[in-house]
Amino acid sequence: MSTATRGPSARLDPSDFLDVDSLLSDEERLIRGTVRDWVRSRVLPGIDDWFERGVFPREVATELGELGLLGMHLEGYGCAGASAVSYGLACQELEAGDSGFRSFVSVQGSLVMFPIRRYGSEEQRREWLPRLARGEAIGCFGLTEPDFGSDPGGMRTTARRRGSDWVLNGSKLWITNGGIADVAVVWARTEEGVRGFVVPTDARGFSTRDVHRKLSLRASVTSELILEDVVLPESAALPGVTGLKGPLSCLNEARYGIVWGAMGAARACYESALEYARTRVQFGRPIGSFQLTQRKLVDMLVELSKGTLLALHLGRMKDEGRIAPQHVSLGKLNNVRAALEIAREARGVLGANGITLEYPVIRHMNNLESVLTYEGTNEIHTLAIGEAITGLPAYR
Ligand SMILES: Cc1cc2nc3c(=O)[nH]c(=O)nc-3n(C[C@H](O)[C@H](O)[C@H](O)COP(=O)(O)OP(=O)(O)OC[C@H]3O[C@@H](n4cnc5c(N)ncnc54)[C@H](O)[C@@H]3O)c2cc1C
Repeated sequence: MSTATRGPSARLDPSDFLDVDSLLSDEERLIRGTVRDWVRSRVLPGIDDWFERGVFPREVATELGELGLLGMHLEGYGCAGASAVSYGLACQELEAGDSGFRSFVSVQGSLVMFPIRRYGSEEQRREWLPRLARGEAIGCFGLTEPDFGSDPGGMRTTARRRGSDWVLNGSKLWITNGGIADVAVVWARTEEGVRGFVVPTDARGFSTRDVHRKLSLRASVTSELILEDVVLPESAALPGVTGLKGPLSCLNEARYGIVWGAMGAARACYESALEYARTRVQFGRPIGSFQLTQRKLVDMLVELSKGTLLALHLGRMKDEGRIAPQHVSLGKLNNVRAALEIAREARGVLGANGITLEYPVIRHMNNLESVLTYEGTNEIHTLAIGEAITGLPAYR
């Protein structure tokens, strides 16, 4: 490229082609760098083994707490009070390691600590938030049921009043962290509408069963929660919200993290494919020298660059208090779809090597299939955006 078209300060970093770095503050870069280093030293060396064995290394919870990543975008009670952009950057770096780690942090911070912080009593906040922030306690979020996923309003789990107590019955399925949790935020049908309950997992009548034989998000615990006459005091109910808007507001927080996280997984796939294409020789030349391969790599880079800018834009909107759930839907819809396309394309570039755990690509690709489904499927986000622009709901 001639100097006439490329100024002296322009830099073309294959991993940050549009210099998104320059749009971040020093503090944001510091947080991102800290998480990136931690992922390099603590996640990447062990992830293939954890993924293969289907385990989440529970012991990292306190390390994530020490790093200030648990409930990091919340204020007080031991939480870091970081900006939405910083939280997003942390999600991006964690998911560049593995979606299971980002899922752990999303569930703990956005699906468990967020509702306790926003809708909980002072007593609930004091009891749970500092321990959850330190990673000494692990939380899970029970909304989905075997027969009600995209349509949680149909849930069958009930909470009935008995004297001054609540009695919970029902089951929840596909619950991240369920089998390792100390506390579950469980959403149940009551006479007043859907309400949230803070359920210690050692409560009598509460049990879990892990989901096995997953081919996606294997370094993450996914479980069924079973509630059989679980008796809880009045103080276990979240006092600050009634109705589906409670759980939906939590999901909106968590899926904001996915907007960023998906780009982390995508970046890892793109970087792996780029490196491979530069070094793998076929027909006497690196495969990266073939036009067809370059087109694949460039398509990946274009989507990665757009998706990263979209995440940052949504993060700035969130920090300015201007973000609507439908904005987040657009980000989740686009970035997970783009990340999956990047992962699948990268897998192909790696040829046979692309199907092994020697490279991170197929692990990310398989993980992203879960990310596509949870926190609202593509179809549900399409319908949410469709309703926003037409004024016409089309769910039924
Ligand atoms: C690994 C993993 C972890 C999870 N963690 C949690 C968790 O921690 N807590 C929790 O509560 N849940 C969790 N979930 C559940 C997740 O949120 C649900 O799987 C998701 O909401 C979809 O529900 P479903 O699987 O029942 O699919 P369904 O709702 O049965 O949907 C099946 C298909 O039908 C489509 N569909 C449904 N309705 C419509 C419609 N109106 N128009 C067009 N298409 C439609 C969907 O988009 C999808 O493609 C997790 C799931 C996975 C896979």
